[in-house]
Amino acid sequence: MSKTRPLTILMRSLRQRCPACGRGRVFDGWLAVRDECEECGLTFNRGPGFYLGAVYFNYGVTALVTVIVFFTLYLGFGYAIESIVWPLFGFCLVFPLLFHRIARSLWLGFDELFDPHAKSEPSAEDNA
Ligand SMILES: [Zn+2]
Repeated sequence: MSKTRPLTILMRSLRQRCPACGRGRVFDGWLAVRDECEECGLTFNRGPGFYLGAVYFNYGVTALVTVIVFFTLYLGFGYAIESIVWPLFGFCLVFPLLFHRIARSLWLGFDELFDPHAKSEPSAEDNA
């Protein structure tokens, strides 16, 4: 477990900053994750498939928000199901695209919290 407090890592992840130092930016452009932190050198690109976990974060948050909004509107405010479903369907298509960067940053912070300063495996090119 990281020495950095979980709330600090969460706030750094939400700001899309390095979970270790809080200064370096995680992204270089819209989709590309930097290979490492420009400030402290923490490895961001931890190998193929590492950011698959971010998909689960993205899916979970999307599903949770959808369910909460649906039941709030349906049971709390008495909206008809037909008037709720299509807007929520649109939300389910658009929100994951907008949340993509934060989900990746949260996944990086989650990994840093439980496996601090993990380094990527040396590639075959490094051994040549
Ligand atoms: Zn850093």
